[in-house]
Amino acid sequence: MAKGKKQPKRILIVGGGYVGLYTALGLQRKLRSLEASVTVVDPQPHMTYQPFLPEAAAGSIEPRHVVVPLRKVLRRCHVLTGRVTKIEHANKTATVESIDGHVQQISYDVLISALGSISRLLPIPGLAEQGIGFKTVGEAIYLRNHVLSRLDLAASTDDPELRRKLLTFLVIGGGYAGVEALAELEDMARYAIRYYDNISAKDMRWVLVEATGRIMPEVSAKMGVYTVKVLEKRGIEVFLDTRVKTLENGHIVLDDGTEFDADTVIWTAGVKANPMLQQTDLPLDERGRVRCTADLQVAGLSDAWAAGDNAGVPDLSRIKEDPTATCSPSAQHAVRQAKRLVPNVLASIRGKKPKPYFHKYAGSVASLGLYKGVSDVLGVIRLKGFLAWLLHRGYHLSRMPTFNRKVRIMFDWLGAFVFRREVISMGQIQDPKTEFARAAKS
Ligand SMILES: Cc1cc2nc3c(=O)[nH]c(=O)nc-3n(C[C@H](O)[C@H](O)[C@H](O)COP(=O)(O)OP(=O)(O)OC[C@H]3O[C@@H](n4cnc5c(N)ncnc54)[C@H](O)[C@@H]3O)c2cc1C
Repeated sequence: MAKGKKQPKRILIVGGGYVGLYTALGLQRKLRSLEASVTVVDPQPHMTYQPFLPEAAAGSIEPRHVVVPLRKVLRRCHVLTGRVTKIEHANKTATVESIDGHVQQISYDVLISALGSISRLLPIPGLAEQGIGFKTVGEAIYLRNHVLSRLDLAASTDDPELRRKLLTFLVIGGGYAGVEALAELEDMARYAIRYYDNISAKDMRWVLVEATGRIMPEVSAKMGVYTVKVLEKRGIEVFLDTRVKTLENGHIVLDDGTEFDADTVIWTAGVKANPMLQQTDLPLDERGRVRCTADLQVAGLSDAWAAGDNAGVPDLSRIKEDPTATCSPSAQHAVRQAKRLVPNVLASIRGKKPKPYFHKYAGSVASLGLYKGVSDVLGVIRLKGFLAWLLHRGYHLSRMPTFNRKVRIMFDWLGAFVFRREVISMGQIQDPKTEFARAAKS
């Protein structure tokens, strides 16, 4: 580089999820030549569109299509597959551990923290051993295979107690992730049992346990009550104001005294900010999120930005009623914050003023299985059943990044509509070396 010529800024995006991907896509489109380089670090080589995980688990969408390969779409960025383990913004360095354990230090000029959230576990005996979360495409694939394989096992056993346990499925946590996972998986299992001559719908037991007095806080209370009714009509047991006391060895004890055995326990009772933030010198709020200003800058620091589930961003749409209000962890905020982040980072690099993030809650949509849904748009238009389900699909399809993924998902839906659901359990994926090891012994 010739003397006196400006060096390109090095932008480091930590996390290639919703915020990371959308921000990198925007920056690679809008950055001028040699203005800045962009590096994205994520332990996964892809971004996951989480709102489609329930449909991927239920077999309506091919799981590969709910993820977006980072290297393929971020052609003008540098993608590093690794885990950031430390950030020292004072020295502008991040420590990255790659999958093979190799550790390297990366220097940067501008930091964007997009680390998202992780499942919030409680100290319930047996939870870590028996439970599984519902945040990754791996968990969605596992659960699909697991639920279908429980049907196979139940159909093949003579032990009535074991059969009852295999056919009992428990979901803990009644937010949209839990309700959608439960509704989609139950719908899939109900469809699949037509191919089992000794299992009927009443042999299965699906249970939802929620600690508060309502489910789906994302929709209005009225729609929450409606959702409970829909689930109960399908034979799903919903326990409100109830907590799980223990899950040891698959024996479930609830705090109202109810006891039963379940072989499947899905934990969706909330998320917390990525704990990696504790290994940084970024200021954190009481919920462990990066403390941000309304224009998405990290409070009190220059050249540091954050957005999405890992950021405590003031919610300007509610600031009059509650001056301490911050944005909730949702895709709705994540995608819009990423869209604001791009011009703000560019403005700051170009010596201009960034603008504040403002978004008023636009409502929620949720799928309750094939052709069934619930939605609440702007708190005014409340839809149920087929129309709500259509809105759910249309809305999420419009939010799914890249044209390629949108088209593939549409073809998946078309295929499932024409040929109906695919109900094969690919359980071998869970333990692919079994057959080879058996062959080696013979
Ligand atoms: C099943 C489910 C359904 C949902 N449905 C809806 C819905 O209908 N509507 C809605 O608004 N919201 C929904 N959400 C929430 C929404 O998906 C999240 O709010 C959104 O993904 C947050 O985006 P993010 O970029 O902050 O985090 P994420 O998209 O989670 O991205 C975080 C990224 O950081 C990476 N990462 C983690 N640790 C490290 C590290 N140490 N170093 C580098 N990278 C790291 C992760 O691999 C990940 O790629 C749903 C969530 C789930 C789980």
